[in-house]
Amino acid sequence: MSWRDLMCGEPRSADIGKRLSLAGWAGRRRDHGGLVFIDLRDHTGICQVVVNPEHSPEAAEAAHAVRAEFVLRAEGELVARAPDAVNPGLPTGEVELQADSLEIVSRSEALPFQIDDEGVEEETRLRYRYLDIRGERMQRNLRLGATVISAFRRYMESLGFVDVWTPMLTKATPEGARDFVVPVRLQPGKFFALPQSPQLFKQVLMVAGMDRYYQIATCIRDEDLRADRQFEHRQLDVEMAFPTREDVWEVIEGAVRGAFEALGREPPAQPFRRMPWQEAKARYGSDKPDLRFDLEISDATETTRESEFKIFADATCVRFLRVPQELSRAELDRLEERAKQWGGKGLAYLVFDEEGEVRSPIAKFLSEEELAVFRGEPASTVLFGAGEPELVARVLGALRQQLGRELGLIDEERDEFLWVTDFPLFEWSEEEGRWVSEHHPFTGVRPEDEELLESDPGAVVSQSYDLVWNGWELGSGSIRIHRQELQERVFRVLGISDEQAQARFGFLLEVMRMGAPPHGGFGFGVDRFLALLAGEPNIREVIAFPKAASGSEPMTGAPTTLPDEQLTELGIRVVDVGQRKGHTSWSTQ
Ligand code: ASP
Repeated sequence: MSWRDLMCGEPRSADIGKRLSLAGWAGRRRDHGGLVFIDLRDHTGICQVVVNPEHSPEAAEAAHAVRAEFVLRAEGELVARAPDAVNPGLPTGEVELQADSLEIVSRSEALPFQIDDEGVEEETRLRYRYLDIRGERMQRNLRLGATVISAFRRYMESLGFVDVWTPMLTKATPEGARDFVVPVRLQPGKFFALPQSPQLFKQVLMVAGMDRYYQIATCIRDEDLRADRQFEHRQLDVEMAFPTREDVWEVIEGAVRGAFEALGREPPAQPFRRMPWQEAKARYGSDKPDLRFDLEISDATETTRESEFKIFADATCVRFLRVPQELSRAELDRLEERAKQWGGKGLAYLVFDEEGEVRSPIAKFLSEEELAVFRGEPASTVLFGAGEPELVARVLGALRQQLGRELGLIDEERDEFLWVTDFPLFEWSEEEGRWVSEHHPFTGVRPEDEELLESDPGAVVSQSYDLVWNGWELGSGSIRIHRQELQERVFRVLGISDEQAQARFGFLLEVMRMGAPPHGGFGFGVDRFLALLAGEPNIREVIAFPKAASGSEPMTGAPTTLPDEQLTELGIRVVDVGQRKGHTSWSTQ
């Protein structure tokens, strides 16, 4: 006996007359007082099974007992449906299986929700993930993911990249998040860190002569969960020896194109657009601008230097957005609230009505020359940001994004890939009172800026780049530091003493002394890419068993406490550090 001869979605007219077994889940069941119709379903589709009590009384008895999501095996002849029963909407709609045996293979309790019901709360979907995955949406998304990852592998291997596995239990790899740590029973008091990325291993592999490395790597970071962020995510992790950054971009662009092709979609044109970070910030107020709509930010710092409007005259930077619509008072109030959320003090504006007349509390302070610069089409609005460049970019960038959405300016048909290049190497952290890496501490320095490292760290441009798709950051990479003395200088700027550097990254400094070739690469966020390809609003929809927004895994109930014996064995005592976001945290003593 074989369980099934065809998948449920496969029978066609050409199979009429064949004896077949089909197996799957019971979908809709219609009992016509005698004849029973059951939709037998698997991931390929549905085939209608008909049970006729006259034809097979035993099968009919089983059919009466069938409930939703029972697992069934039906055997019988595939027949043509009566002409008026043909369902043109279903690939198997011309045929049905006339069952002479129907076996209930497995029963199901009443379900907490119907398969493919679209209105189910996410927490419930995650709690019963197996039912959720049985539905069409998750089936489609997980299969799409598998297609893309397999295309990545074929493509990378065709270019001579070698898949090398790197450890899960390792030492901290700083990517700007906290580490998840694992206690070690054999060495009480010591901990492994789970990798935030395989960054250091892939660099070591380049020194080790592997030349071209890739891996579909799991990266684990303890940070707050968001639509595009989980504790765990997958990267197409890449490293190359002797690359220019253009070489890296070409490889990654090819991977993106290969994924589109594997899904039967028109791939984006190569090369992708490129834009220095500085320009992205100035024109779009973001280091991951969505280029599917224009709404660019313009600079007015020079124009307003002598302004009678003191706020403009005194600001380090004045910029504005020209919105192609006459915004109402209520809309402006709402946008002002938004601007304040992003750190702005208020929102200065000029509204030009249908006649081109200006309406604004600040118009009286502006000269004719200033107004002439800002004047746009009739029925438009100018929104200003004034202050430090970083703040102005943040506020206007957020407003731009919001208005792009609300005013329907985003062309959903368009795909805009963009390399953002030339990030600063460091960023000043007010909180920590020191320079921190904009990416990670192994990012290369633009050669002409090396001399500024100690004297003007904020001005140093790095050799890093991000890939952005329609406003989502898909990943980052860089040409790395491969010289020990330069790496040590960067550590020092970061406030890492030579002793600390030795303790944390001694092995890296050591390999840099033993024939390190120039190298560089990229970490490509697979889950974000898949979510966008699948048209999903968040990465949980493309991950089989994601964490809920609370950070827990609702199906298994993880994380959990551990039995005392296990803690003792690990040399760990749990102390109360209070509740963090609804969960007990633990530390060691
Ligand atoms: N390891 C980096 C990251 O996870 C990517 C890279 O620089 O290759 O962001």
